[in-house]
Amino acid sequence: MSEKFDVAVIGSGPGGYAAAIRCAQRNASVALIEKEFIGGTCLNCGCIPSKSLLASAHTLLSIKHAAMMGVDVASATPNWPKMQERKNAIVSGFRKGLTGLLKANKIKIIQGKGIITAPGQIKVASDTTTAQLQADKIILATGSQPIQLPDIHLDGQTVISSKEALELQQIPKSMVIIGGGVIGCEMACVYSGVGTKVTVIEALARLIPMEDEWVGRLMQRELSKLGIDCITGQKVTSTDKTSGLAKVSLESGQTIDTEKLLVSIGRRPVVDKETIESVELEMSGSATKVNDKMETNVPGIYAIGDTVGTTFLAHGAFAEAKVAATNATGGDEKIADYSLIPRAVYTFPEVASVGKTEQTCREQGLDISVGNSFFKTNGRSVAHNETVGEIRAVRDKTTNKIVGITMVGSIVTELIAAARILLGTTEKITRLSFPHPTVSEVLKESIEDSFGLSLHNPPKI
Ligand SMILES: Cc1cc2nc3c(=O)[nH]c(=O)nc-3n(C[C@H](O)[C@H](O)[C@H](O)COP(=O)(O)OP(=O)(O)OC[C@H]3O[C@@H](n4cnc5c(N)ncnc54)[C@H](O)[C@@H]3O)c2cc1C
Repeated sequence: MSEKFDVAVIGSGPGGYAAAIRCAQRNASVALIEKEFIGGTCLNCGCIPSKSLLASAHTLLSIKHAAMMGVDVASATPNWPKMQERKNAIVSGFRKGLTGLLKANKIKIIQGKGIITAPGQIKVASDTTTAQLQADKIILATGSQPIQLPDIHLDGQTVISSKEALELQQIPKSMVIIGGGVIGCEMACVYSGVGTKVTVIEALARLIPMEDEWVGRLMQRELSKLGIDCITGQKVTSTDKTSGLAKVSLESGQTIDTEKLLVSIGRRPVVDKETIESVELEMSGSATKVNDKMETNVPGIYAIGDTVGTTFLAHGAFAEAKVAATNATGGDEKIADYSLIPRAVYTFPEVASVGKTEQTCREQGLDISVGNSFFKTNGRSVAHNETVGEIRAVRDKTTNKIVGITMVGSIVTELIAAARILLGTTEKITRLSFPHPTVSEVLKESIEDSFGLSLHNPPKI
């Protein structure tokens, strides 16, 4: 007889494991099915390993600036095997911790590929075993995969995706990155930080194209200072592989020879055909279609995270997981406004934003006031020699509310959660006291400036 659960979750990334825990907290019996590694893309080949390598590269860069802080350091060189070893230890440590946490929540982890054979029926197939289970509700959290370019075949050696880029055994002499979005720019910082000659090629007019124009311009200037060549508004027309190198040709006729070619043009939702072929799930392209309760068109089946193609962010998946889990266990919740989910890029400097961008506000015809404040005028930032960047706050003049905040600078990915809380606030917010000197004062000043109340910005004539 097959084992029966209240809820079965397919996929154990941030969406799947969070949904499983929330269901268990609501007293449901839960099975969590995973065909590869617990923790999904985020833990094993995404957020965590990339941040670990970025932190190592950032340490190296900081040491290179030590002399101007009055600290003489004889030399600083990357120990790449050690950086990789540290990253792998961090990943396996968290994987172990997460497995323990799931077990502590009495969640049954089942290793293998989950295949829905009929509504409420799942077959789990691994290399060695096949199990059958029943579940009243099913939550699909099967994630995403890198988008590939039609004429550029990923061979995993010379032409690679972010997965291989996180696992290279040696520091390459050169790397061309196709795609100047979040992952492309983060990888550019890792590898230029450890000495690789990096070229980023972006087809659109600027880097980090989903953010405001000033962000892309500032990032291009700062990445160039790190020695990264940024080519924008150019498509790659062809690649040619010879003797372990790739020759990349651009529309302009320029060619670049490179040891590694990283294709990083985004990710697309994925759900294996076999997993869902017995149920007629409605799709929108490659994304599983859901309503604001994360319900698919098939009663009792929910979908969350990258597979629904909304945010492609781990914390976006967390938010959707909580909604699906609540609804799958008798509750009634809807997903909130997606623009309120913060966006973060962990480059040098970092980029973070929440709410509406200035460009979106203008496209929507809102009457806005944009306030800003620069890190170079902030006491703590200057003391730390982290003076690059600014924060801009957008106020809707009609409602008098803060509707969007965008930041470029050191540790802004840590400040963005505070900015999220300040969204929707009115002039009263300018009476809040922030400690001095702190980097967070730049956030306060930008908001004050949007109300025309900044103490430290020169008067606008
Ligand atoms: C290099 C990189 C860096 C990133 N950095 C960040 C970051 O800093 N911050 C951030 O918010 N996001 C980041 N992301 C994005 C983030 O990793 C994803 O948004 C997040 O992992 C999505 O979670 P998920 O649960 O939807 O899917 P995933 O994490 O992809 O998990 C899906 C899981 O489902 C399993 N699975 C699929 N089909 C089946 C099946 N039929 N049976 C059993 N198991 C199955 C897969 O093996 C996988 O483990 C990054 C991504 C990459 C690639």
